[in-house]
Amino acid sequence: QNEDSTSVLKDDKGFKGHDMLAPFTAGWQSSDLHPLVIEKSQGSYVYDSNGRKYLDSLAGLWCTALGGNEPRLVAAAVAQLNTLPFYHSFWNRTTKPSLDLAKELLETFTASKMAKVFFTNSGSEANDTQVKLVWYYNNALGRPNKKKFIARAKSYHGSTLIAASLSGLPALHQKFDLPAPFVLHTDCPHYWRFHLPGETEEEFSTRLANNLEELILKEGPETIAAFIAEPVMGAGGVITPPATYFEKIQAVVKKYDILFIADEVICAFGRLGTMFGCDKYNIKPDLVSVAKALSSAYMPIGAVLVSPKVSDVIYSQSNKLGTFSHGFTYSGHPVSCAVAAEALKIYKERNIAEQVQNIAPRFQDGLKAFSDSPIIGEIRGTGLILGTEFTDNKSPNDPFPSEWGIGAYFGAQCEKHGMLVRVAGDNIMMSPPFIITPEEVDELISIYGKALKATE
Ligand code: PLP
Repeated sequence: QNEDSTSVLKDDKGFKGHDMLAPFTAGWQSSDLHPLVIEKSQGSYVYDSNGRKYLDSLAGLWCTALGGNEPRLVAAAVAQLNTLPFYHSFWNRTTKPSLDLAKELLETFTASKMAKVFFTNSGSEANDTQVKLVWYYNNALGRPNKKKFIARAKSYHGSTLIAASLSGLPALHQKFDLPAPFVLHTDCPHYWRFHLPGETEEEFSTRLANNLEELILKEGPETIAAFIAEPVMGAGGVITPPATYFEKIQAVVKKYDILFIADEVICAFGRLGTMFGCDKYNIKPDLVSVAKALSSAYMPIGAVLVSPKVSDVIYSQSNKLGTFSHGFTYSGHPVSCAVAAEALKIYKERNIAEQVQNIAPRFQDGLKAFSDSPIIGEIRGTGLILGTEFTDNKSPNDPFPSEWGIGAYFGAQCEKHGMLVRVAGDNIMMSPPFIITPEEVDELISIYGKALKATE
């Protein structure tokens, strides 16, 4: 850990540690070191418990799309809390906000036809639900052996047992006895890192599609139920798909009657400059997971969108199958649904995807101008999502020694200059709120430049 980081300095005012076992934090950090306590948010900024202001370049965790203090979301929550703070959606009881939001979501997603919505509280729960839905669907069709999932190396689909299994990040598997045996992983589509000498993006995509087909044939197509992918990989380092990738992958998946699940948890609602990642890359999924920006993260909520192909089978076989025994107390929580409905309304009223498209060149070009730095291997991204990978010799094959902690050092320098970024090894990730202004983008670039200079 880097001593320069304000978030990890030991407190000299008698700090004795805190009582949380914090998510994705080393055990010793949660007990010994002072966490950065965020107390307030406003627009694209957050403030810590000492009143220090930071530009929140990750929008919380890729999620506070409308920034820190959108009054309409607060009003929607308060109005719903005053009317009906909670009722469930089990056993043919439900609430109006959940019915309204389901309808609205189906109208909003147009990349392929969707027929039904299942509500969850998070992206992980959405992806767990996907697996159960797909198994249920194949059981309904009398195909009990068609149960395996193919996900991709470096993907992130969440941290519950099934979502972590789908994820392709070793840290989520090691010491947890994962992945579960029904999950297979295929190539990560990172052109810069994995292309062969002289191979074009198109040829790289063809090779990956061929590898996927080989894997399916080796396992037996009758055993493969679904393929899951993020349109742009987020936590794996912000990896945009190479040219023709999704076109070729979809052709393979379709050939073997394998369902395509789009994990839109990060990409949906404007992040890439289109309403969904599927719109941007012409993906026609059978199932979709959303969360995060669905409510601009003001309330926890996720959802699964189900195509008629899947839902019709479940409907027609439901007499035989009985109850779909899956759901959460808070599936369709009325306050979360009311807030999400208001967020969707705002995205549409403000043409939020177009707004992102307009500001994206300033953000992307401004940061990619640092690509020549001798310590940067690649800066990549699209819309309002961007990753930086530090390497030596500008080569994907020459990582800096991990004990140097270059990523952590850069992150600490950003923090020192008033900006929070996501650090994962020597990868830095940013996904600011959709409402970031041109002046704030310039500030973000300026802080990035200062941190880079200090790190070089
Ligand atoms: N899927 C993707 C693509 C994500 O980026 C995330 C979280 O970052 C998840 C799923 C998991 O969502 P949650 O943390 O809400 O469970």
